[in-house]
Amino acid sequence: MKFFESPEWFLIRNLTLFFVAVFWLASIYWVYKDARRRIDDPWLVAVATLLGVVPPFIGPLIYMLFRPPEYLEDVRERELEIRAMEERLSRRELHCPVCRTEVEASFLVCPVCTTKLKQACGNCKAPLDAMWQVCPYCETPVDTPTAVRLDVWEAPEARLEETRPRRRRRSQRPDR
Ligand SMILES: [Zn+2]
Ligand SMILES: [Zn+2]
Repeated sequence: MKFFESPEWFLIRNLTLFFVAVFWLASIYWVYKDARRRIDDPWLVAVATLLGVVPPFIGPLIYMLFRPPEYLEDVRERELEIRAMEERLSRRELHCPVCRTEVEASFLVCPVCTTKLKQACGNCKAPLDAMWQVCPYCETPVDTPTAVRLDVWEAPEARLEETRPRRRRRSQRPDR
């Protein structure tokens, strides 16, 4: 029974305690480092680190169960990507459909390729959207010559058939 008083025993015991202490400190440091990458609030980081300290070795396991699933940089990166995508989408709406030049919402004509972008109000010259039936600035009803012209281009035969017999009928109609 001299073993527990021997210097070998003290050496083994002290070495074991030393490694346990090192492992404990390492686990606390790991919790602190991991919490900082996942949690924005410094107070919550402190609470998580304290959890790593107090029930030794079990605290870090509890922390692992409740920690946020994502790193903060991943969250930020994703938010930046979404914002960039939204910007790209909103910018696409303000491009000339023909030459892709950046145009402003108030432009009537593309300044580069002279494509007609919007119609101006006949009364106040405000730029009108294609869907608008009335000018929202001065209440003047919108006559849509561009839309009518598009219909004619799409079906020229229909227009000819429509107009010719009507004229003939009118001329053939007996006078009252
Ligand atoms: Zn253009
Ligand atoms: Zn107007």
